Amino acid sequence: MNLNLTTDRPTFVTHLECSMSGERYEADQLHGLSRVGRPLLVRYDLEAVKANLPRRLLESRATDLWRWRELLPVRRTDSIVSLGEIETPLIPIPKSGGGGNVLVKDEGRLPTGSFKARGLVMAVAMARELGVTKIAMPTNGNAGAALAAYASRCGIETIVFCPEDTPEVNVREIAMQGARVYRVNGLIDDCGAIVGKGAAEGRWFDFSTLKEPYRIEGKKTMGLELAAQLGWTLPDAIFYPTGGGTGLIGMWKAFDELEQLGWIGSERPRMYAVQASGCAPIVRAFEEGQEHAERWEDAHTVAAGIRVPRAVGDFLILRAVRESGGKAVGVGDPAILAAVDDCARRDGLLLCPEGGATLAAYREALRTGEVDEDEQVVLFNCATGLKYPMPEAPNWLDRHGPIDFDAL
Ligand SMILES: *Cc1c(COP(=O)(O)O)cnc(C)c1O
Repeated sequence: MNLNLTTDRPTFVTHLECSMSGERYEADQLHGLSRVGRPLLVRYDLEAVKANLPRRLLESRATDLWRWRELLPVRRTDSIVSLGEIETPLIPIPKSGGGGNVLVKDEGRLPTGSFKARGLVMAVAMARELGVTKIAMPTNGNAGAALAAYASRCGIETIVFCPEDTPEVNVREIAMQGARVYRVNGLIDDCGAIVGKGAAEGRWFDFSTLKEPYRIEGKKTMGLELAAQLGWTLPDAIFYPTGGGTGLIGMWKAFDELEQLGWIGSERPRMYAVQASGCAPIVRAFEEGQEHAERWEDAHTVAAGIRVPRAVGDFLILRAVRESGGKAVGVGDPAILAAVDDCARRDGLLLCPEGGATLAAYREALRTGEVDEDEQVVLFNCATGLKYPMPEAPNWLDRHGPIDFDAL
């Protein structure tokens, strides 16, 4: 494992850039949001990457996340704390997928059981490289768990704030992995306000979604990986469960970088940003033709990972969705739970509710003809279904009594 961490590799970051104004920022310095309060994007000398990394060389490497090192921001190999960031498989779901040509990218196999590991392994490495010793974060669960794991592993102190109804298993996992974790009587953006206040007082570094530049770079590897797995082509459509949108924004960036390297062409998948109808700020903004999304009041859904009432990268999500010819779509909790149930029972793949949301949205898109049966589609299942509550299985057998074998 981690064969790609045994050698130092050159890095190609030139600078950072405000995603809204294009203003330039120095690399190798600690940054949060840009001066206009928007996410910073990392820029690379892609011509130099092209000269240093022939595709054949990339293909000869082990398939973990670190094979992409030349397209990642970490300069020093010893900044990296790894828990084994493997390439995640693409799993067909022929039965629950409604007969369509659909694959699930199962991100639940990553360390800490979710794709938050991709973003946090990168952000923590950069924090370490830039001398950060204390980090705070608001989370619906999975991001906090990944942060706690990687930061504790390298001795960075972490304080994590979750909405009070965050599933017990997530809160305990965060605590178990060495963070100080607090439940807060509010939603994730209320937790974010506490983190922001402490950061402004200089108490810690703010690790909220998109408020530091490097989680996008980690999440970008989903797009890089997908292209490599599909033989340097991209699917016709991607369904992505969208909270803060880091992954969607990251993949969109990855595709551009791959095109500039000459590894893929100019075709892009239609990007479907999937939200729960109980918390669908991006869907509303998409439908109203807005560039930014207003806060969603009274957010509620079983899919906690996408219960994000307000996203600082809203315009980046909306831009990518529109440029791609995709849509932002909402699905209700009953459809989400039915999709999870159906996929587990008939295809043997246990999705998380957020993954269930992408399957529900895909099935609806098949039904309305938005997506064609033979189009190649990738759904993202972003966490292991094992972290979420499951329906009771109450059967019980008394081994001392008579057993009615016919009834089993
Ligand atoms: C965080 C999370 C999401 C949303 O990811 P973003 O890239 O922040 O939109 C979706 N599903 C799960 C399971 C998550 O933990």
